[in-house]
Amino acid sequence: MHVIIKRGIVEDKMKNIMFIAPPAAGKGTQAEIIVNKYNIPHISTGDILRDISKENSEIGNYVAETLANGLLVKDEITYQLVLDRLSKDDCKNGFIIDGFPRNYEQALAYDDILKKVGYDLGIIIVIEVDKETLAKRITGRRVCKKCGSVFNINNDLMKPKNESICDICGGDLYQRSDDNLDAFMNRFATYEKNTEKIINHYKDLGVLHFIDGNRTIDEISKQINEIIESTN
Ligand code: AMP
Repeated sequence: MHVIIKRGIVEDKMKNIMFIAPPAAGKGTQAEIIVNKYNIPHISTGDILRDISKENSEIGNYVAETLANGLLVKDEITYQLVLDRLSKDDCKNGFIIDGFPRNYEQALAYDDILKKVGYDLGIIIVIEVDKETLAKRITGRRVCKKCGSVFNINNDLMKPKNESICDICGGDLYQRSDDNLDAFMNRFATYEKNTEKIINHYKDLGVLHFIDGNRTIDEISKQINEIIESTN
């Protein structure tokens, strides 16, 4: 294995990591830790779609409405955005993909997309969290409009000092349109229904790693690190 240490960033051979986890399982937080350590991009279809939803266009309005209802955006939009994003230069040393694939059809489409861009599947990290814990996290999640930092008013370790102001930059905190209990129930039901088939699709490839996501951020991060390091 060739390892180069550059400005504190560890670079070695390609790390392609897929996260499979229910909404509010802590994917974003864990992805950020990996991004900082390995200097690879975090590709979240949810984040990309949230950006599109702000556009004042037919597609922007369609995506905004779909997200607010906790439903899945049409395949042709999602496939194209994943292909476009993976085609960018910054993915060549690895990437974290999160939020895609979300069902069996998307898993098949992802196989094709990977072939097109010439990348390996890499490793898959499945974060498992109880439904009750997730519902509590979802309704307490607050995001900074300005810097994107994430807080949680239902978690003492992640609580902002003031419920509506960002501790980091002083920006306004808001609640995502799909972070309400009704949308969560839809999203969770869809997740459970689809995930089993996705996992079956990958189960014989030796790439799946299951993690108990009910623990602290540090404990989860430590385990993810061990998995990444042991698979290179
Ligand atoms: P997330 O941030 O991953 O929870 O995604 C937020 C929302 O974006 C989802 O509830 C869907 O409406 C949409 N979305 C994200 N990824 C996908 C995908 N792979 N396919 C369809 N819709 C998606």
